[in-house]
Amino acid sequence: MLSYRHSYHAGNHADVLKHLVLVQLLRYMTQKDKAFTVVDTHAGAGAYALDSEHATKLGEFRGGIGRLWERNDLPPAIAAYVAEVRALNGPGALLRYPGSPWLSQHGLREQDRLRLFELHSSDQRILASLFEDDAKRAIVYADDGFASLKALLPPPSRRGLVLIDPSYELREDYGRVVQAVRESLERFATGCYAVWYPQLLKPEARQLPERLQRLGAKNWLHVTLAVRKASSDGFGMHGSGMFIINPPWTLAATLAAEMPWLRDALAEDAGASFTLEHESS
Ligand code: SAM
Repeated sequence: MLSYRHSYHAGNHADVLKHLVLVQLLRYMTQKDKAFTVVDTHAGAGAYALDSEHATKLGEFRGGIGRLWERNDLPPAIAAYVAEVRALNGPGALLRYPGSPWLSQHGLREQDRLRLFELHSSDQRILASLFEDDAKRAIVYADDGFASLKALLPPPSRRGLVLIDPSYELREDYGRVVQAVRESLERFATGCYAVWYPQLLKPEARQLPERLQRLGAKNWLHVTLAVRKASSDGFGMHGSGMFIINPPWTLAATLAAEMPWLRDALAEDAGASFTLEHESS
């Protein structure tokens, strides 16, 4: 039984990093006319109310999107991400936050397709209602995203973006991420795969990027953002990372230019930092 609800965390520093990258990946995919498919293996509820009881309980969005909302000096890629959040909110206050399904839907064209997986029954229902009127492009599955992914690969157009964003509520999720990416690469080596993971002291989290790197893809990018120093008791998530296989070739330069700004904008103490590594051949 899953208990994680993304509504408690929507718009936090980890969402900022993840969705900043996602918006860049979607923009890159739409540079060619040829159709593409987005597969979101862990979709969540799709969009979130920031004045809800869940969101205000921890108020995590205040340290994430909340810190960017009023800035008028956003660098271009961060501005593109914040523009998406504004598109959901309309003029005025920050009251809603787009999840990855909303961002993908908003980036899609008529010819593109979206496949969404969500296991939590409450979030699955909210997600399904959000996509009710988009049945030609989007399908919402109440299935296990890890287990279902490979059946969708390669997509009919052979252009695809896969977001793997588990809650890591279950310890085995780390191993399942690696297995899912390994199997996916066997079927669809040219796909773009974006894996989000939390920076935690537990070994499974620390080892994940290296395990993904060892899968042997020739083109990859790994970016992390920590907003504070890790607490010695290992409690809480001080940062997160995105490991991207077959990223757009421009992404490394974009992030190199903008991550210092983002680190400073979201810093909670002097331990805030980012890392960026990539390999291409
Ligand atoms: N991707 C979303 C976004 O960026 O807006 C957030 C997703 S949240 C971090 C992870 C979601 O995965 C939760 O809603 C959880 O219920 C769901 N989940 C957990 N295990 C799953 C599985 N095996 N297959 C599909 N969904 C799963």
